[in-house]
Amino acid sequence: MVIVMSQHATEEEIVQVVEFVESLGARTHISRGEEKIVIGVIGDKRNVQKEQIRVLPGVEEVVSILKPYKLVSREFKEEDTIVRIGDVEIGSGEPVVIAGPCSVEGERQIVETAIAVKQRGALLLRGGAFKPRTSPYSFQGLGEEGLRYLKKAREETGLLVVTEVMDAMDVELVAEYADVLQIGARNMQNFKLLKAVGKIDKPVLLKRGMSATLTEFLLSAEYILSEGNSQVILCERGIRTFVEYSRNTLDLNVVPMVKKVSHLPIIVDPSHGTGRRELVIPLALAALVAGADGLIVEVHPHPEQSWSDADQTLSLEEFDFLMKKVKSLVRWMKHEDESIYSH
Ligand code: PEP
Ligand code: MN
Repeated sequence: MVIVMSQHATEEEIVQVVEFVESLGARTHISRGEEKIVIGVIGDKRNVQKEQIRVLPGVEEVVSILKPYKLVSREFKEEDTIVRIGDVEIGSGEPVVIAGPCSVEGERQIVETAIAVKQRGALLLRGGAFKPRTSPYSFQGLGEEGLRYLKKAREETGLLVVTEVMDAMDVELVAEYADVLQIGARNMQNFKLLKAVGKIDKPVLLKRGMSATLTEFLLSAEYILSEGNSQVILCERGIRTFVEYSRNTLDLNVVPMVKKVSHLPIIVDPSHGTGRRELVIPLALAALVAGADGLIVEVHPHPEQSWSDADQTLSLEEFDFLMKKVKSLVRWMKHEDESIYSH
């Protein structure tokens, strides 16, 4: 249920509505849009009745939301959410490219990559210090040492850092070093972890689980928002299908679909989405055409020597080529009839 306040509602009236709803055992979440103030009713709504709320002063409308997610829905917040990370904005219409190696392997590797991707137009640096590997015998990441190298790379280049957190107990540690905390596909439904990142004041990059439906994906984002953190960037990274020629199938359908049902920004990961270097560039471009707010791409100065995900990692030359294509595509999309993207 959402309560839409009238444009002339006073602060006092808003407080009254919030207090009334909370006295009935539910929780509230206020969204202050440009035009309207909307109060989301979440939690235990058993005693909350529409009729009682509709008559309170300042209330314009009470709307039931039939979808299982609320705070992430367009009904709750009509305008797009823009996630701000330093000077970078994700979701403002200008696609943002996040690039870097799958794993942080050492100080030189990450600093060198950071300098190279920045030169080519990346605005954020990626790199895993805690790695979710399918096999326990694969490289598990450098842990805190890796976080220190990421910090060094940020100091050297000014690039803001995106890195994965795998355990609720590590959230505080990772948040000390990272500008954006990534929740990986395998942890999309680690609810304890989602709640933990919901309590911090840093943006979260939430990757779609490899077999998650759109509703499950959005409900995972809802966990984070319901704990108070609304700086969530969704990320499509491919799902498991029956095809055998690629690691995953990049579900680009989900991009315009997310835009329709949610206000959150969505970026696309064509590296994990395909698992094959030669597919990364075409799918990256397709993602932008589909309306993605950005890309996250694996890049390494010597891809064949990558300690993880070598097959899907771009070289600096390939990344250079991708960025040139991205720039001309973005220019074309801006210049071209905007109506192809309007509804
Ligand atoms: C990664 O970004 O390196 C990663 C492990 O991604 P995903 O969780 O999407 O597999
Ligand atoms: Mn990877």
